[in-house]
Amino acid sequence: MGSRKQLTTAHGNPIGDNQNSLTAGARGPLLMQDYQLLEKMATFNRERVPERVVHAKGSGAYGKFTVTNDVSRYTKAKIFSQLGKQTDCLLRFSTVAGERGAADAERDVRGFAVKFYTEEGNWDMVGNNTPVFFVRDPYKFGDFIHTQKRDPTTNMRSNTSMRDFWSLSPESLHQVTILMSDRGLPQGYRFVNGYSSHTYSFINADDERFWIKFHFKTMQGIRTWTYAQAGQIIGGDRESSQRDRFEAIERGDFPKWRVCVQIMPEAEADTYHLNPFDLTKVWPHGDYPLTEIGIMELNRNPENYFADIEQAAFEPSNIVPGISFSPDKMLQARIMSYADAHRYRIGVNYAALPANQAQCPVHSYHRDGKLRFDGNYGGAVNYEPNSMGGPAEDHRFNEPPLKVSGDADRYNHRDGNDDYTQPGNLFRLMSDGQKAQLFSNIAEAMDGVPERIKARQLVHFYRADPEYGRGVAELLDLNIEEIAALAENSLEDLFAMTSEGN
Ligand code: NDP
Repeated sequence: MGSRKQLTTAHGNPIGDNQNSLTAGARGPLLMQDYQLLEKMATFNRERVPERVVHAKGSGAYGKFTVTNDVSRYTKAKIFSQLGKQTDCLLRFSTVAGERGAADAERDVRGFAVKFYTEEGNWDMVGNNTPVFFVRDPYKFGDFIHTQKRDPTTNMRSNTSMRDFWSLSPESLHQVTILMSDRGLPQGYRFVNGYSSHTYSFINADDERFWIKFHFKTMQGIRTWTYAQAGQIIGGDRESSQRDRFEAIERGDFPKWRVCVQIMPEAEADTYHLNPFDLTKVWPHGDYPLTEIGIMELNRNPENYFADIEQAAFEPSNIVPGISFSPDKMLQARIMSYADAHRYRIGVNYAALPANQAQCPVHSYHRDGKLRFDGNYGGAVNYEPNSMGGPAEDHRFNEPPLKVSGDADRYNHRDGNDDYTQPGNLFRLMSDGQKAQLFSNIAEAMDGVPERIKARQLVHFYRADPEYGRGVAELLDLNIEEIAALAENSLEDLFAMTSEGN
């Protein structure tokens, strides 16, 4: 056997033969007592954990975050406490709609989830490559995702479901415009920006609160494919983004992002001209410019994809002192749903897995549960309060109170909300070439969609900017005068006029 290690069962029993099963005679049936074979097959059957319902196709790497600017007047977070300070991190990129085997070069939002292993516990920034999202109320998240997934009858993705839902949800227009623009089909994960999308908060040592948005600006530049180019790429390589990212790191060409924040003093939220906690809106840079806080670099590929990336669990609920939440309804819902998904998908003790494990001491009163593999705190006291010297709270970590007011009710999130100006602003900053690409991307993706749904969607484009509506209408052979007339109606009337049977 030379220097090779002894092959054993999962329990350490030496294995004598890993080639031939135990049978009654050379041709004979298997014996039930071939426990090595049973263990091998049973373990194989359980190799997959359920894939993520969204963001199933992932790619990730380890790296480091380095502080380049002093923001201690805004936040007491220790990760930012000193110029030049470095913190280890793990970044998982993903596509959203495709399953684990899906091709990378698809038009889709890219997930951009970072775990920073800080000395005060893990801080997760679970963002996307877009600064906004399709919906602003968590009630609509599951519905939206159903439109991106497979149709119950055809088991194929449905252009009609997507356009039906989006055109009935004008708050999606901003994100739809980004998705259908050139940036909706990145050449690879190195060439995307990352955004927290949500508003979070910074809290400084004097307990002052600031509302903030994180921006990770790619230092590799934005690079995109057209639909036609992507078709060719996918024909030759379904893992184009994973390959590009993996190979760049292997050859020492470490991708980097400039990490920036937009900062709004707490009180300004009350008077700002838009709701700063609305996930379908950006804060224009003219109002709140970017402040650089650091550089993030990816420099190490995981040795084992499953252990480090598939089992990695990112959750917006992982915050550290000095970084906290905001009233954004979508963020509030994600605080619950991400950790809940991990408990279901990986198991209740997922935080103790190497990729998720905090790089600081962890002391809690959680005990037991499936796959408790870390000693379960041995004989330490397992209740609190106790007089046995168990871990204790420290009020210095309490956040300053957050003032909330209002009557509990179900407020119509569309009342008084302008869903058209910002998508229009984005359209207007595009070059003629980008606009042409936007029109043709949309027209191509509307293949097979009923006319009434096309018309309803075009009304929204037209309302954002008449030129936007006209450009798409021309490619779809729709009459822009009719779209303009439809656009005069209230949303309610528009929805009624473009429903089945009308
Ligand atoms: P600015 O001119 O200051 O910024 C424009 C922003 O748009 C830049 O961040 C640019 O990213 C980004 N951008 C350019 N093309 C696209 C595209 N096809 N898809 C997505 N983003 C793109 O303008 P404002 O801050 O006043 O914002 C105007 C519009 O720009 C907004 O309505 C919004 O749609 C979009 N935008 C704004 C962001 C913000 O946080 N303010 C962030 C991203 C987009 P880059 O600098 O990397 O080229």
